[in-house]
Amino acid sequence: LDHALRRAGLAEKVSELSIDAVLITRLPNVRYLTGFTGSNGQVLVGRRSSVFFTDGRYTEQSRNEVPDLDGVTYLDGFDPALANTCAELGLSSLGFEAHEVTVERHRRMSGSLEGVELVAVGELVERARWAKDAEELALLRQAQAITDAAFTAILDLLAVGVTEVQVAMELEGLLRREGAEAMAFDPIVAFGESAAEPHHEAGRRSLEEGDVIKLDLGAVCGGYHSDMTRTVAFGEPPPELKKIHDVVREAQQAGIDAVEAGVTGRDVDRVSREVIEAAGYGEAFVHGLGHGVGLEIHEGPNLGRRFGDELPVGAVVTVEPGVYLPGLGGVRIEDMVEVLPGGCRVIGTSPRDLIEL
Ligand code: ZN
Ligand code: ZN
Repeated sequence: LDHALRRAGLAEKVSELSIDAVLITRLPNVRYLTGFTGSNGQVLVGRRSSVFFTDGRYTEQSRNEVPDLDGVTYLDGFDPALANTCAELGLSSLGFEAHEVTVERHRRMSGSLEGVELVAVGELVERARWAKDAEELALLRQAQAITDAAFTAILDLLAVGVTEVQVAMELEGLLRREGAEAMAFDPIVAFGESAAEPHHEAGRRSLEEGDVIKLDLGAVCGGYHSDMTRTVAFGEPPPELKKIHDVVREAQQAGIDAVEAGVTGRDVDRVSREVIEAAGYGEAFVHGLGHGVGLEIHEGPNLGRRFGDELPVGAVVTVEPGVYLPGLGGVRIEDMVEVLPGGCRVIGTSPRDLIEL
């Protein structure tokens, strides 16, 4: 992963903003720019040089993970170390991530950085992360391959009497055995009427003939997440739920067909939502169509009514329409797609038509 290239890109932005340097404190952004995977690290990216900060617990780890950067290990807190570095580099202005820095943190920085103007900057690094490079795409594919394998394997374990919690535990084991370094999130396992909750927490409900089973799961590989949902039929579910599966399947396909570089998240959402509205279930599609996936399970770019940004080539987004009917159940179908010029590529291989067990 070419961290130096990423920092060079950010250094250009620093120049464009007419500031001397920018301080990056959001951990996924720090990881993106340096490769550091620990729980406390900051990176200052200047026009010509960058400095990595961490505390004593991570001296050794950062030597291995961030060998190409000047490092500062602090024992007495970050603020004095930052003040020192700013003085050494002769900085008179410093950008900070306004969406990450708390009021308290800002107050402390202002207090310790004399003569340095603090300048709020937006989601510079998040924006850069929207478009994935070849190595990132390979990790996302690997994470999804693990997810596909775990999904296939869990189908054999679905039987009358098994509980949602048991299935969630099995999924975790399967994802780990298939090679996940972590789960992307606690899997969502929802039987029957529980599937009417978009983000149901697995409970003691046991599986019965005629339930739908909604499974939302993902793996982490090299820090990159996957995210997939399937709703399968166990026995003969209520006819309306089978009909809804057809509608959601069609809506998802319309969304997938609408994804290409240059279209906005709003446009893709609209195309898919129209299918569900036309079927009379518009009110029951209670969330946005999708989100970016990468070093975070939810990141930009988003597919939804509020998002007018154009999708860049290399973005990876989910397309996940859903219809939820309280008391009856619900259906969501979710896949990650890679944005290409003139179209997109679905990353997973699990079937999207209704699986009837
Ligand atoms: Zn999901
Ligand atoms: Zn998702």
